[in-house]
Amino acid sequence: SVEAQELKEDQDVIRDEEKIIGDADQFEFQAETAELLNIVAKSLYSENEVFIREIISNASDALEKLRYNRLTSEGGAVDDAPLEIHIRTNKYDNTFTIQDTGIGMTKEELVKNLGMIARSGSKAFLESMKEKGDASSSIIGQFGVGFYSTFMVGDKVTVYTKSHEQGSMGYSWTCEGGVSYKISEAEAVSPGTKIVVTLKPDCRKFAEDGTVEQIIKKHSTFVGFPVRLNGKVI
Ligand code: ADP
Ligand code: MG
Repeated sequence: SVEAQELKEDQDVIRDEEKIIGDADQFEFQAETAELLNIVAKSLYSENEVFIREIISNASDALEKLRYNRLTSEGGAVDDAPLEIHIRTNKYDNTFTIQDTGIGMTKEELVKNLGMIARSGSKAFLESMKEKGDASSSIIGQFGVGFYSTFMVGDKVTVYTKSHEQGSMGYSWTCEGGVSYKISEAEAVSPGTKIVVTLKPDCRKFAEDGTVEQIIKKHSTFVGFPVRLNGKVI
């Protein structure tokens, strides 16, 4: 029916309903993480479009974890919301947003997963860079820098996340580069993770629907979950 179709289309749209509650806590990045982040943020990596592949891949991992969780019902994830990835481009405020309905993160997981270098590849990256004495494009390309690749294109990155663990709060994590980030409690955060990248002036092409569609088709065709760009299935 028309109503069912309208409801479905409505659900395909990313909403901005999150509200920060109370004061933010400031945290320092682990030294190596700050180092990595600042190298990445300052690099003019010619293939900076790979940040899209990296965050889609993280969204897909988070959805896979939730799917597994449901099968084993370990974490008490008993809801049955669809497992999807939504991307939104906005030319007016120069943002690129991705939202998944995956496993989400607790406050402890936010600190651990985004504030410290968990991935082995990042340590190898820093070591290789120190050996060679510079952060050449080839080194970034060779190792990939995961989540921190968002700082190649964004001067501000905000993550809203809510774990599927029962009784979890929603949180906002935000960083504008540098050595620290902030975490606040937030209301109206959907279970899963939403990342808003405010694009650098020279990276505004990532706020264009057509450009982003091509990049998704180039790097992310084998994702095991539906990817929607501005509501449309890619
Ligand atoms: P990797 O994917 O190799 O572990 P990343 O730098 O890409 O490294 O991501 C770091 C960590 O942050 C992930 O391992 C995961 O724990 C967490 N993370 C990133 N994106 C998401 C997301 N969309 N949902 C849940 N957790 C995430
Ligand atoms: Mg990753």
